[in-house]
Amino acid sequence: AKDDGGGEHRGYEPALHANAEERRQLEFALRRALENREMELNFQPVVNAQSEEVVSFEALVRWNSPEHGPVRPDKFVPIAEDTRLIVPIGTWVMEQACREATNWPDHVRIAVNVSPEQLFEPDFASTVVQALTVSGLDAQRLELEVTESIFLRDASVARASLEQCLALGCTIALDDFGTGYSSLGYLRKLPFSTIKIDRSFVQGAAQSSKESLAIIRAVVAMADALEMTTTAEGVESAEEAELIRKLGCTKIQGYYFGRPMRAPDALQLFRRRQSD
Ligand code: C2E
Ligand code: CA
Ligand code: CA
Ligand code: CA
Repeated sequence: AKDDGGGEHRGYEPALHANAEERRQLEFALRRALENREMELNFQPVVNAQSEEVVSFEALVRWNSPEHGPVRPDKFVPIAEDTRLIVPIGTWVMEQACREATNWPDHVRIAVNVSPEQLFEPDFASTVVQALTVSGLDAQRLELEVTESIFLRDASVARASLEQCLALGCTIALDDFGTGYSSLGYLRKLPFSTIKIDRSFVQGAAQSSKESLAIIRAVVAMADALEMTTTAEGVESAEEAELIRKLGCTKIQGYYFGRPMRAPDALQLFRRRQSD
């Protein structure tokens, strides 16, 4: 909820009741969303910063509610987390994402967002095994995206889950780096393979913010020293892509190279690139 307007602090505004009521309705609808097949995955390409070839896709969940229309994940994922509905939703996402990735060339990987709630389930690793087994996807092709918030609670359960996934051959990315409660100490707690630099720094750098530029440079240098790669999020133009390339990021994700798209379009994007 890094950029939410601070809903809990609004006091006695009438809007508060509307929000609480809306939230209750969304929660009610969300309970039925999976069984009613209202969830869908979109896939956003991540490219190699140098070659601009697609190296992976990030799976992004979409909810099309018959009552509420399309609901943005920024809105429903927090509700799903509070109600623990994110656990079955996350299991579904994991399996769907792995299944879809088997349609792509072998070198193309799939990244799946994992909520802290999922990691605090002691059987998280077995849901990953299950998704890999039913899909037939190689564990090496699966990246799990987690945020620093997993370290806010007792991290031992989450760490044990992630270590089991590492043992399977999956990799872990640290998402939204630099937002939230960043501590460099977290980078020692798990062998992340990728640091995802949040869009706010990329946008800052594009607007010549000295601070954003310095932070990206420092993160890239640190990632290099730690033998991790970096992905810049939210690159929206050729100029931004060029800047990010010069700053030395390994990979780029953003509207410039592709918006989140439906599975057939992701496949199509590939076929087109291959026949270029
Ligand atoms: P995220 O993991 O940081 O995902 C990246 C978000 O940035 C996506 O928003 C994506 O559409 C957006 N984005 C990508 N490139 C650009 C760009 O160039 N410009 C701009 N303005 N935005 C860009 P989306 O799909 O709305 O998802 C929002 C958040 O919801 C995600 O942020 C993630 O935290 C959460 N989320 C989405 N899918 C899942 C899921 O399957 N499971 C969980 N636990 N969370 C999810
Ligand atoms: Ca992510
Ligand atoms: Ca992110
Ligand atoms: Ca985010």
